[in-house]
Amino acid sequence: MAINSPEGTRDLLPDEAKFWAHFRDTAFDIFARYGYQPIETPLFEQTDLFVRGIGQATDVVSKEMFTAISGENFKRVIEGDTIKAKSRLSLRPEGTAGVVRAVAQHDLVPQGAAPAKLMYAGPMFRAERPQKGRQRMFNQVGIECLGAEDPSVDAEGIIMLMRFYAAIGVPMDATRLLVNSMGCEKCRPAYREAVRAYMNEHADAMCDECMRRAEINPLRAFDCKNPGCAEVMDGAPKISDYLCDDCREHYEAVKAYLKGAGVVFVEDPKLVRGLDYYTRTVFEVQVDQGMGSQNAIGGGGRYDKLCEEVGGRPTPGFGFALGYERCALAIQAAGYTFPSAQHCDVFVACVDDSMRAEAFRLVQACRDAGVSAEMDHQHRSLKSQFKLADKVGARLVAVLGPDELAAGQVKVRNMQTHKERLAELDKVKELLSRFGGEPFGGAHVAVDEVFGTEE
Ligand code: AMP
Repeated sequence: MAINSPEGTRDLLPDEAKFWAHFRDTAFDIFARYGYQPIETPLFEQTDLFVRGIGQATDVVSKEMFTAISGENFKRVIEGDTIKAKSRLSLRPEGTAGVVRAVAQHDLVPQGAAPAKLMYAGPMFRAERPQKGRQRMFNQVGIECLGAEDPSVDAEGIIMLMRFYAAIGVPMDATRLLVNSMGCEKCRPAYREAVRAYMNEHADAMCDECMRRAEINPLRAFDCKNPGCAEVMDGAPKISDYLCDDCREHYEAVKAYLKGAGVVFVEDPKLVRGLDYYTRTVFEVQVDQGMGSQNAIGGGGRYDKLCEEVGGRPTPGFGFALGYERCALAIQAAGYTFPSAQHCDVFVACVDDSMRAEAFRLVQACRDAGVSAEMDHQHRSLKSQFKLADKVGARLVAVLGPDELAAGQVKVRNMQTHKERLAELDKVKELLSRFGGEPFGGAHVAVDEVFGTEE
């Protein structure tokens, strides 16, 4: 029986893989204008990092983590032995914890330093029930800014994200930005207690899971999809009534910056997001077109205590992550189709097999000079080579035939105009070798310059 990809994973076939690279590059280009630099952290970390950073009570940590066990330890676990904390590993369910761990470990924000602005892209892993827009391995692009608590950091990050969505083709008229403040360690405890007391009053109408959570983290109940719970939580106390003066001022400033930049947003006092580490600003971006129930294409917020939580010095932080797959769904629903990943400047065709060695040398010389080139590897007829050239999107076809070779020439057909001309083979080779001195690092020559264009 054929073996398919694991449940909840997707292959990005060439056209989409190329679009993903474009998506990532566009994000990094835009984020770099705001001072962000790339960082790469491991795809797995010590499980404790996620437990401490994201929170034991969250779904992500308590239900959705993929544990990674090395060969030796696997045997120990099977035999019921315990393994050392540092050998307990999990695939990363999100990027923030790893980046903050790296910042603490390498002391990237020493006392008095400017903020560290970091961006990343890559796969995340969550053992969720797969559905449209929800996978077990998915790609995120994200940023983290550590070392400044000023509201301008939060606003700048949100503005940057909205600029990126517009640039990559997310339909902005179907997109909604929700913002909220979750308060800080001074004002949130009283709010949490108020929500817990409210939930206890309405325990009969709420699911068991919410009531269990009420003990550890009642705010999770805002995310419950159960209609009964959602109805009860609609009437729950609002965080806006509990914010301390500092948090209120911070939130007002974030909103003022957003308004000043012309970014439209909706305040949502029920937006608490699924991870425990958030303080003050939280936000989420949703799209209503082509998405099904998984309509959040990105989100994030401020996490001023996380760095300490994972053992670093106190360092305020702000970050967001956006999901590539859901953005791609939104972009496709808006009518975009991935362009073909294939690109070929010149296809070198042979009239018969006696020219194959010459064709092989010619395509190699083209590639060394920075021209993308292809030839037939299946001994096809000339007609069928032209079909193949068309399929790979070749701009030019250079035909090597006995008569032309005897005259030191090559016939060049422009595949768009279908016009043909003869080029001097020696001149073609001379040009290619001039540019081919430094393969892949050196100058790239335009295909028309080498093979000439028809008049
Ligand atoms: P989060 O880390 O949960 O805030 O997620 C940030 C973004 O990642 C979300 O807005 C989604 O776009 C995306 N995302 C989260 N979980 C999944 C998943 N299981 N499958 C696909 N995309 C996801």
